Amino acid sequence: MAVLKACILLGAPGSGKGTQAKKLQERFNIPHISTGDILRKEIEAGSELGKRVQQIMASGKLVGDDLIVEIVRNRFSKQDVQSGFVLDGFPRTIHQADSLSDILKEAKLPLPKVLQLDVPDQVLIDRLTGRMSCAQCGTVYHRRLNPPRKAGICNECGSTKFVERKDDSEETVRKRLNVYKAETEPLVDYYRSRGLLEALDANLEMDLITNAIVGCLEK
Ligand code: AMP
Repeated sequence: MAVLKACILLGAPGSGKGTQAKKLQERFNIPHISTGDILRKEIEAGSELGKRVQQIMASGKLVGDDLIVEIVRNRFSKQDVQSGFVLDGFPRTIHQADSLSDILKEAKLPLPKVLQLDVPDQVLIDRLTGRMSCAQCGTVYHRRLNPPRKAGICNECGSTKFVERKDDSEETVRKRLNVYKAETEPLVDYYRSRGLLEALDANLEMDLITNAIVGCLEK
């Protein structure tokens, strides 16, 4: 039987979870489940949920566990997760990790591998302050480290409109890193003790990291 292509990408903000998740989605044709993206869509749509979380997200704090777990439970009720999935930005607390185990049990899915993307703090701060994405197709760039080939024009779709995330200011980035260390880093030991963790050096060129992740998933 084919190995289920499923993983949790665990790492600080700016460690490349979103970028790598998109690559895995394309390569294996599996859903990329990003709780941050789901919440940002709700804010964009002006929904009640979006209004509830807007301030919290802009401040760099975490949204309440119950709300996030409900979102993920709904997402896992869809059939497409049965062929695999990439979780990006969830779980972020021990409580969320316990809930994920329940959700997977309900969906009759095994616990996936947990790939830790390890990047030094200063590199994370440099990466996050200056991040921008194409307003039309979502391709992610960086003003200094990875600008579009032609200044101001998206490589992929030619759009000239770019957006920055509200929570990528230096002050909020530092807060998000502190929140990561306090709330999310304990998941490294949590999953290591369950024999599910693979730590990867993610301070490398993007393609090298993708290859390492694919290697882990095909093992
Ligand atoms: P991300 O795009 O994953 O960096 O998430 C952006 C923001 O969305 C976070 O700083 C939190 O405010 C919120 N968020 C996303 N995922 C979660 C989660 N699993 N638990 C709590 N808050 C979350």
